[in-house]
Amino acid sequence: MIEAPYPEFEELLTSIGEAGQRLSEIEACEGAAGNISVYIGWNIEPRRRFPLVETIQLPQAVPELANRTFLVTGSGCRLREIIRDPLANLACLVIDEDGLTGHLYTSPRRLFTNLTSEFNSHLAIHYDQVMTTGANFQVVIHAQPLYLTHLSHISRYQDTLYLNQHILRWQPELIVHLSDGVGYLPFCVPGSQKLMEQTLQGLRKHRIVVWGKHGVMARSDLSVKRTSDRIEYAETGAKYEYLNLVNHELGEGLSAEEIRSVCEGFKISQSIF
Ligand SMILES: [Zn+2]
Repeated sequence: MIEAPYPEFEELLTSIGEAGQRLSEIEACEGAAGNISVYIGWNIEPRRRFPLVETIQLPQAVPELANRTFLVTGSGCRLREIIRDPLANLACLVIDEDGLTGHLYTSPRRLFTNLTSEFNSHLAIHYDQVMTTGANFQVVIHAQPLYLTHLSHISRYQDTLYLNQHILRWQPELIVHLSDGVGYLPFCVPGSQKLMEQTLQGLRKHRIVVWGKHGVMARSDLSVKRTSDRIEYAETGAKYEYLNLVNHELGEGLSAEEIRSVCEGFKISQSIF
């Protein structure tokens, strides 16, 4: 939830660009991997920046979101390039009254034909969160961070509790930033209905989930940067874990007792340690 005064359109475009740049720096969006969407629950006028308009069919009916706006990355766009030219890489979608279609506003400079192929998951998550929490703002990011994705290929990390107890033990702040942990979801075909349903469930409980053998999906109702930070924290924990595996597991990590004492100090309630 965001309090007024709400961020300006330009600030939102810049923050999406900065998140894309940071995700690229941490090797989480090679080539055209990764996608970002932002739900805006207040009125925004897209036409000065995005003058082209067409009607598109939505992947699911969202009548309660009539007249609400989304900023979404285009299919095949590179997250690292958004900062240089947000209008070329993003579209602005305003949901129609019936909730079945939307007006898609784009720039003449646009580098894509369709929205990201993961838009079905993005829209389902936004809809679910807005309906259950009443959020007036929400960010959803998919990225493919190297170490976290690598761990998801190793069978013992394909378990939410095991994964969290191992990646969150390397820095005292990790449990503070990721107190409800990283959810693990088994592999599903990208863009599929099953992936969308699993992700929806996972993101009710966690603010970030790992898609087994693929990448992550993260959400925040506060800011674009909080969302990319969340991916970076989880990825940092996974990087430490990987370093420890190749270092013959010489690192101790913080003990469960040490992590519980951090939680006491920071008044964090968690069920991982
Ligand atoms: Zn992907």
